[in-house]
Amino acid sequence: MAQEQHIALPLKYRPMTFEDVVGQEHVVRTLRHAIESGRIANAYLFVGPRGIGKTTTSRIFAKALNCTSPNGVEPCGKCVNCVEIAAGRSLDVVELDAASHNKVEDVKPIMESVQFKPVSSKFKVFIIDECHMLSNAAWNALLKTLEEPPPHVRFIFATTEGDKVLATIVSRCQRFDLRRIQTNDIVSRLRHVCELEKIEAEEDALLAIARGAEGGMRDALSSLDQLISFRGDKVREEDALGVFGLVSRSALESLAGAILKGDVGAILEQIDMFYSAGKNMRRLSAELLMHFRNLVAVQALGPDSKTLAVTPDQAKSLAEQAKGIDPSRVFRICDILADMEDKLRYVLSARTLIEMSLIRASRVASTATIEELMKAVRELKSGVGVSAAPAAGERVETRVERDQPAAASRQPEAKREPPAVTLEPRAAAPEPRAASPVSRSAILEDPKLNSVLSSLPGAIVTDIKEKRK
Ligand SMILES: [Zn+2]
Repeated sequence: MAQEQHIALPLKYRPMTFEDVVGQEHVVRTLRHAIESGRIANAYLFVGPRGIGKTTTSRIFAKALNCTSPNGVEPCGKCVNCVEIAAGRSLDVVELDAASHNKVEDVKPIMESVQFKPVSSKFKVFIIDECHMLSNAAWNALLKTLEEPPPHVRFIFATTEGDKVLATIVSRCQRFDLRRIQTNDIVSRLRHVCELEKIEAEEDALLAIARGAEGGMRDALSSLDQLISFRGDKVREEDALGVFGLVSRSALESLAGAILKGDVGAILEQIDMFYSAGKNMRRLSAELLMHFRNLVAVQALGPDSKTLAVTPDQAKSLAEQAKGIDPSRVFRICDILADMEDKLRYVLSARTLIEMSLIRASRVASTATIEELMKAVRELKSGVGVSAAPAAGERVETRVERDQPAAASRQPEAKREPPAVTLEPRAAAPEPRAASPVSRSAILEDPKLNSVLSSLPGAIVTDIKEKRK
């Protein structure tokens, strides 16, 4: 028996119907509705990075317009028109790659053929890919037709650089911005393909491929194809990581854990390990920032939130890591990592910058925040019998002194004018009661408060005052 010819996975699993298109629901919904209602614009402009389905969606739309026996709004994929469009030999659907054909002479055949009725379909559809590459003269030649196209003509423009398309053209098109496909959507598509191809793939291997593809389905399927030819029918995480120079999911999570614990030694060791293994340090920084961003999202919205776009395994680890960590700390770490991302573009030694930034982040992570301090003071106050929270109109001031040696006495110093931290009153507060000097000193000398303070380097409480307005 002759061996079946190998078809590249991106080609084999290219979406054939609107239903199959992954991650572009906003575009698909509008296009389907346009066909349903018969309100089809003269020209469409699809903008977005490569490999996310611009050309594929254009072809599906062209098929849906010209299919002779559509299934609702979906093209049947079987009629002569569908088959010819899919094979790229339909006389009524013309594709032009403007990356290599961008001169006036290249668009002339289009100008000539628009006057003639379609051969065997309802519409003549012109799909112009990478349209931002068309020369000005070529655009000018097209402009007249775009303004008043014959009723049987439709244009679909696709481009990776929407900003380079002339405003006069954009204003004559319905513009759609296609999104990068979310990692978890790519993972589920890859899993589906693996099932059909009878490939055994580790979940984290698929995740690594999806991470490496950075939102492009075509790249993800190509990489899967490459790994299958390299490894046979078993795809493992380490192979996928090797292809992209990525750090494994567990290593990334453990680095994040070291930052949260303030473990400088572990941070330096891990960075050294990644560096020696030739991992992509800039990518590591971007993914670490994403991890902490996800932690913020988990804390705010829970692990099942749609904004996370992570696999179930990742969601579980995120929820675990987010437990018991003050959100404001995670937020401050995000700040430092974002700053690092920004600076990475200009530095020569990514490693040093990453090390220093992560140490800084780990210090932030292990230092008490003012919010935590205030919470502790509130709890303390309710514990020693002073009013649990001040009532409206009453403010409690906690004076915090900084830049004191850790071993310095916790007595007030007269000559220093310390900054004041203000505790805002809570909405529902019990009746105010004046704090006696005895309870004040009880607060100041309380070991719980002082243990919180000791984690805030150089800060001591010198006085607690109550004010009436
Ligand atoms: Zn059809």
